[in-house]
Amino acid sequence: MDASTSPTAPLDRVLTNCRVIDPANNIDGRLDVGIRAGRIAAVAPDLIRQPHRGALDLGGAVVTPGFVDVHVHVYEWVTNFGVAADAAGVHSGATTIVDQGSTGAWTFGGFKAFIVDPARTDVRAFVSINVAGALKGGMEGEALHNPGMVRVDELVGLAAAHPRVVRGFKCHGESGALSHWDLAVFLKAVEAGKRAGLPLYVHTGELFPVDETHRPSPEAVLPKVLPHLKPGDMLAHVYSSMPDGVVGRGNRVPDVVRAARDQGVLFDLGHGVNLSFRIARMMMDAGIYPDTIGSDVHGDFNSYHDLSILDYSLAGAVNKLLALGMSLGDVIARVTAAPARFLGDATIGALTPGNPADLTVLERVDGDWTFRDSEGERIAVTARWVPRLVIKDGDVIVPDCGLLSDLLPADGRPLGVTRPFAGVQQAAVPARR
Ligand SMILES: [Zn+2]
Repeated sequence: MDASTSPTAPLDRVLTNCRVIDPANNIDGRLDVGIRAGRIAAVAPDLIRQPHRGALDLGGAVVTPGFVDVHVHVYEWVTNFGVAADAAGVHSGATTIVDQGSTGAWTFGGFKAFIVDPARTDVRAFVSINVAGALKGGMEGEALHNPGMVRVDELVGLAAAHPRVVRGFKCHGESGALSHWDLAVFLKAVEAGKRAGLPLYVHTGELFPVDETHRPSPEAVLPKVLPHLKPGDMLAHVYSSMPDGVVGRGNRVPDVVRAARDQGVLFDLGHGVNLSFRIARMMMDAGIYPDTIGSDVHGDFNSYHDLSILDYSLAGAVNKLLALGMSLGDVIARVTAAPARFLGDATIGALTPGNPADLTVLERVDGDWTFRDSEGERIAVTARWVPRLVIKDGDVIVPDCGLLSDLLPADGRPLGVTRPFAGVQQAAVPARR
């Protein structure tokens, strides 16, 4: 151990004058956070009185473990709908992001070299069940996704070779895929997940182009798919109003969904174009909350590298669930402790001493604002929580918030209405072109 990492060395940085919410460690209180050698050294009162090299007075802001977004699409330039990893990550307030299915076993090399390795953000992947990945938004290209394009051995081998990055497999339980291949592709994903000992992340709601001569009845889709899932697998888009989705066309929680939940299947918000406030209220009334809050941030499916219609974000989703009545602590748990558990990685999502110093700093901004859902319903609020700083491996980054269109006015992004935190300088984030 060299002098700078010794437990008796001065702290590199102390975050002070803040409310720390760390659900994994049952912490919610006015505490300081001490950082040494890029890691959490301590979370305790009055660390500011200990020897330290630098301090950040956070002016009463909320400090949490770095947000973990379990659903993004960041194979930029290779898929037509991928966004830059750091735009979805540190510049949106998240220190860890999980790409869902952009890369397949045969395209993973480029994903690792050109996306994961250069990013400031900690990028993980649920690898697509087909060898190519999701090259085109909306899963066009039937030949790319048919059962002959699945190699279970290669998926299992890839996961073994890249255990830090590959945390599971992405697959689809929806009308289009079933209309072409019935369960043939899906069951290969189930096999891969069991053999690799990794979770599946299962898209729900119509996505693939449907073969109309074999369209399944919407109510038949999830009853076919759900019995094959194992505890720890996760369903996406839990508050969607899609006819073949988790709730479907009814106005109650289907029995098969309740049964899956009782057996340990997890639910992700998977915001995207799939968040209905009406469905959310109905599900919350029935006691069903998302286990995690994924943003599903991506560009326009029908264009190339076009973010002009992107109108949702992880931080926006956090605020919408608050507006629907969840508590701040419950929502923070779903972007920190819960996704870390899902990913099987205790070094993220928790301010446990020794963990990488990955943190998100949220500031409450007062003022009228309106959130909108996929059905056009609006909710008015008078305050919202905005990510103002991210700390990644101990380095302070001021997020540019460029993708937070549901949370910040376009002409004021970054917000620019609150004073800068004392002592913060913009850390260098490599320009991504
Ligand atoms: Zn997605």
